[in-house]
Amino acid sequence: MSQQKIDHDPNYSRKPVQIADRIWWVGHILPNDPFQCHVYLIENGDQSILIDPGSMLTFRHTLAKIEQIIPFSNIRYFICHHQDPDITSCLPLIDQITSRSDAVILSHWRAIALLKHLGLNMPFACVEEMGWKIDLGGRQLECIFPPYLHFPGAFCTFDPASGTLFSSDLFGGFTEKWQLFASDETYFEAIRPFHEHYMPSRDILFNCLCKLEKYPLLRIAPQHGSIIPETLIPLIIARLKTIDCGLYLMTHTSSDIKRLTRLNAILRAFLVSMATYRDFKEIVGMCASQIRQILPVPQIDFLARQDNDALLCLSCSKPQTISSEEIPPQVLEVFANNSHSLAYSTELQTPWEEQESETGSKSAPAEHNDATRIAGNLIIPLIESGGHRVIAVAILRFSEAFEVDEETRDLLTQLAVPLSVAVERELIYLSLELERQKYYEQSIRDPLTSLYTRIYMHESVRRLFNIHDRNPSAAVGIISLDIDHFKTVNDRFGHQSGDEVLKEFAALLIKETRAEDIQVRLGGEEFAVFIVNCTPRFVIEIAERIRQKFNDLRLDGVLQGSRFSVSCGAIIRNQHETLHDALHRADTTLYLAKDKGRNQVCSDISA
Ligand code: GH3
Ligand code: MG
Ligand code: MG
Repeated sequence: MSQQKIDHDPNYSRKPVQIADRIWWVGHILPNDPFQCHVYLIENGDQSILIDPGSMLTFRHTLAKIEQIIPFSNIRYFICHHQDPDITSCLPLIDQITSRSDAVILSHWRAIALLKHLGLNMPFACVEEMGWKIDLGGRQLECIFPPYLHFPGAFCTFDPASGTLFSSDLFGGFTEKWQLFASDETYFEAIRPFHEHYMPSRDILFNCLCKLEKYPLLRIAPQHGSIIPETLIPLIIARLKTIDCGLYLMTHTSSDIKRLTRLNAILRAFLVSMATYRDFKEIVGMCASQIRQILPVPQIDFLARQDNDALLCLSCSKPQTISSEEIPPQVLEVFANNSHSLAYSTELQTPWEEQESETGSKSAPAEHNDATRIAGNLIIPLIESGGHRVIAVAILRFSEAFEVDEETRDLLTQLAVPLSVAVERELIYLSLELERQKYYEQSIRDPLTSLYTRIYMHESVRRLFNIHDRNPSAAVGIISLDIDHFKTVNDRFGHQSGDEVLKEFAALLIKETRAEDIQVRLGGEEFAVFIVNCTPRFVIEIAERIRQKFNDLRLDGVLQGSRFSVSCGAIIRNQHETLHDALHRADTTLYLAKDKGRNQVCSDISA
C-alpha cells in the first residue's frame, strides 16, 4: 500500500501496515496523542518477534492486528528497548495470553532489574548475555547499544535482512496527525524538539548517531513519529548531529515542547549572533528581530550604569549620557535596589534620543504612529557576569498590551545572560575607544600650546595635498614661522615666561587663521601654518598680519614692556610637491627673512 493511501486510510486503526518484507506496523494511534507509539512485528514463522509491545491502552488493538497476520503464539521474542510504560505496561496482558514455554521478554539487564517487579511468569533474557544478537534460525538480528536518551540500558535493533533499524526513542518525533512515513525533510522539525528535549547532551546524541550510521540503513522505524525512508536518512542524521540538547532541563514549568523549541531557537540564534558580530548594534538588532517573533516589541533600549551615576544609552545612534534626574524612576529603582526581577511599567518617558527604525527614518512621536505606539515596557536587569550588580537594563517597548507569561519570563531571563555579556563587552570597547581617543588627542595636540603636532601634520596634510594634486585650484599655502631671539626671552625672564610667550603666539596663530587651516607647532619656537584654498596674495597677507600683531603684542607682569618679533617664510605648494620639499622651501624663505634682519615675511611667490 502506498504511503499516501496509508495516511488517508480511515481503517488504519484496524489494519496492520506492512513496512518491509515480513515487517509490519501493528501499533495503535490514540486520538490526540502526539507521541504515536508504534509496535512492530517481524514475521518469522514460530520465531516471530514483537518489538516494543505497547501499553495497557493500545495492546488490545495491537493484538487484533497481529492476529490478522500470524497466530499470537508464533511470537517467541518480545523485545523491550527500554522500560517505559508505553512499551512495557502491556506485559502483564501478554503474560496472561502467552501459552508457549520458550517465549521470552528480551531486554537490557538494567531494564530487567525494573521489569521483574511486574511479577510475570514469562522469563526475561538479557540482550548482553545473548551477545547482542538474536538468532532466529537463518535470520539474525543485531542489537545495538548506543545507549541513548533517558535510560542507561536503552538499545536499538537492526534487521540486516530488510535494512530496518528499530530505533525506539531515537529518531522519534512529535507529529500532530497520523503520518506513518516521513515524506520529506520537514519531518526533521518533528524530530528536533523530541531530541532537544530528551537528549541530555549533543555529545551523547552525536555518539549514538555515529554508531548507527555505520549500518546499511534502508529505513528507520522509531517508536514515535514517522518511519524514515532511506532517502532522508543521511540528511536527518547530519542535522541531528548539530542540534542543541538538554537546554530544557532548565525550564521548570512548561510541557509545551514545540514552544520550548522555538524559544531555544531564539536563544541559539542570539548566541550565534553574539559570536558572529562584534558590533553591539548588530547584536542587538539580531536580538530584537528574534524577540519580535514571539513578542510585539518594536524597540529595545539599553541603559548602562556609569561610574558617575549617570546612565549611558547604548541603543541611541551614538552612545548618549543621560543624567540621573532625567531617568525614569522605575529604571532608577532597578539600579538602586540592584533588583534582579523583571519590572513592568506602562508609563516610561524616555529622555534619550529616538532610535532609528529599520527603514532608517526616526520613529514618529507616539501619538502620530500607531505602529510604534508604546503600550507598556518591560525592564530586564542585566547583571555583571560572575557577580550580583545590575550593570544595565534592557527595556522592551511593547507596541500592544501583552501579558508576559511564565514561559516568556523564563526566556527573557535566559536571554538576559548573553545580553549582559554583550553589554559588558560593549562597555569595555567604549572605554577602550575613549582611552584611544584621549591618547590620540594627546598625540596630535601639543600640550603647551594646544596646536597640532608634527604627527597630526603628516596625517592631515596628506589629505590636503591629495585634493590639491587632483584640483590645482585647491592650492595650499605654507607659512613657516620662527620667533626671533627667543633664547634671550628665556635667558632674561625665565623659561616660564618663555612658555607664556609661546602660548600667546599660538593663540595669535589660531586667531589670525581660519578653522579649516592647520596650525602646527613643529618644535621649540618654530611653527608652520597650512592655509587651504588660498591665493598667493592671501598667504602673504596672513603671514604679514601675524608678524605685525606679534610685534604689537604687549604683555603684563615681568614681560611688561618687552617687544617680540617673528620671521616668516611664505610659499604656495606646487602640485605633487612632497611635504618634505614644500617645508624645506618654506624654511629657505624663512632663513632669508632671518638673514635680512628678522621681523619680516619673505616669500618665493609674487603676491
Ligand atoms: P633666532 O632668532 O635665530 O631664531 O634665535 P632664537 O634664540 O630664537 O633661536 P634658537 O634656536 O637659538 O633658540 C631657541 C630657544 O627656544 C632655545 C630653547 O631654549 C627655547 N625653547 C625651545 N622650546 C621651548 C619651550 O617649550 N619653552 C621655552 N620657554 N623655551 C623653549
Ligand atoms: Mg629656532
Ligand atoms: Mg628663533
